[in-house]
Amino acid sequence: MDCPSPNHDSRGGAAVDMLVLHYTGMTSGAAAMDRLCDPAAKVSAHYTIDDDGTVYAHVAEDRRAWHAGISHWAGVDNLNARAIGIELVNPGHEYGYRAFPDAQIAALIELCHGILSRHAIPASRVLAHSDVAPARKDDPGELFPWETLAKAGIGVWPQGMNRELGPEALTRYGYDPNAPQDKVITAFQRHFRPAKLNGEWDDECAALLAGLLSKAGV
Ligand SMILES: [Zn+2]
Repeated sequence: MDCPSPNHDSRGGAAVDMLVLHYTGMTSGAAAMDRLCDPAAKVSAHYTIDDDGTVYAHVAEDRRAWHAGISHWAGVDNLNARAIGIELVNPGHEYGYRAFPDAQIAALIELCHGILSRHAIPASRVLAHSDVAPARKDDPGELFPWETLAKAGIGVWPQGMNRELGPEALTRYGYDPNAPQDKVITAFQRHFRPAKLNGEWDDECAALLAGLLSKAGV
């Protein structure tokens, strides 16, 4: 659905290589939409997604929308020229932060799939507003389902957090499945966790192995 905003200008030749996600942080979706389209507010985003999954398009993707503000990532300041910005309707920390409804996230995933097909945006550059402006911003916040998005091919989620990874996964890395497990764990520790050799699997071993598996692509 179109809901054009006058708040945009040229990207100045910059290629889009970043996606920045926000929440609106206002009492209602209508209030947020009014603000994003108010010339006096001088803010905008490319899209807003309402609670029910309705997507509103404000600014064409080839234009610079004004959402990230003073921002920094990977050595570059003021990222709007190279970013696409998406707002999710949510009252935010100031007005009653709450979980993002499934319909809203489903619409976000579909929208992101389209955006990622149109622009070369590395997974590591799908970011929160708070990632690129940590001193000023909290959005979209800790209730945002980054892991769900990563499973849908959008952004990254650290494999190292996978504490369910058991010692049997050592064989995926290359260790002999027929060797005694405590010996394999000790060999793994001797190489990758030399500070504690006990032959026992723990969260740190799982995190280290997960990191190795994601690096090895196995
Ligand atoms: Zn924001």
